[in-house]
Amino acid sequence: MPLTSYTSEKPLIYSLTPDEMKEWLVEIGDKAFRAQQIFDWLYVKRVRSFEEMTNLSKDLRQKLSETFRIEAMEEITHQTSQDGTVKFLFKLVDGHAIETVIMRHSYGNSICVTTQVGCRIGCTFCASTLGGLKRNLDAGEIVAQVLMAQRKLDEEGARVSHVVVMGIGEPFENFENLIAFLRIINDNRGLNIGARHITVSTSGIVPKIYEFAERGGQVNLAISLHAPNTELRTKLMPINRGFPLEKLLEACRYYIAKTGRRISFEYGLFGGTNDQPEHAEELADLIGDMLCHVNLIPVNYVPERDYVRTPRNEIFQFKNILEDRGINVTIRREQGSDIAAACGQLRAQYAKETVG
Ligand code: SF4
Repeated sequence: MPLTSYTSEKPLIYSLTPDEMKEWLVEIGDKAFRAQQIFDWLYVKRVRSFEEMTNLSKDLRQKLSETFRIEAMEEITHQTSQDGTVKFLFKLVDGHAIETVIMRHSYGNSICVTTQVGCRIGCTFCASTLGGLKRNLDAGEIVAQVLMAQRKLDEEGARVSHVVVMGIGEPFENFENLIAFLRIINDNRGLNIGARHITVSTSGIVPKIYEFAERGGQVNLAISLHAPNTELRTKLMPINRGFPLEKLLEACRYYIAKTGRRISFEYGLFGGTNDQPEHAEELADLIGDMLCHVNLIPVNYVPERDYVRTPRNEIFQFKNILEDRGINVTIRREQGSDIAAACGQLRAQYAKETVG
């Protein structure tokens, strides 16, 4: 099963957590505090080569370039939407393409990162899963997406304020790299993205929800729920066979009790499937007593599937039913609708062009 990350002789420098960087420095007989300087060059000054790290000795720069890679990916293309959404297509060193998105909000710039090349979860509404999973991304390949987006934002003097791990892939299937990624972008000597400004979204890998809860910390957790009962969820998300709704919600309750943090439930409205008033009532029965928030996502027509968009008045009707039951609800604003913004579209387009 292709679950391992890309391995080359040289690991990516961005894969190192601050502690690992210190350990390496001590191993080569240098001073641990230089980790701070290296982080500063990588994530604050955002240099593209080790030679530019001029406050390090020539010898250390040499050792860095002998041991690590600094180029993680190159930009194939990017599209900018009228609303400012930027969608990147990056090429990794082994030729695979991944997508990263900058989204504009009133509260700042949020980056949506990819954690795997493809995905094997098989959600029926998702184009990214059609080609299956190719491989996991290294922690550094996830970090580099934020860095590339930050470089783009540098052009307008702006910064990445939020990160959502909601791009292609199931982050909890790439758990160790995910955790390293969170440590690296959260470090105040580097990109310094506050944990409360980071959200990880899972399709519901139950054991990892427990692990994530044990880990503590302030990172937000979102669950792709999409159905108010187990039959419907299995139809939409086959992962529900392995991790049924009941077990998933048990894990969510544990997470809330352990961390004291609110969970976000992502609920895609698929016209004629899960968007009727009775579904809203059923959903309220299911999660109404939990410390949670529901994010309704009106889903556009999916060419490969039969889903259609829920009419506007029905979206609000669904929302009102939940709110009347005391649940906090938002409707996700559509971003980048004039570009290939749906998850996986740009990558699929690229694959078609390069293959065909
Ligand atoms: S929605 Fe996410 S978890 Fe589901 S198949 Fe697509 S990428 Fe994988």
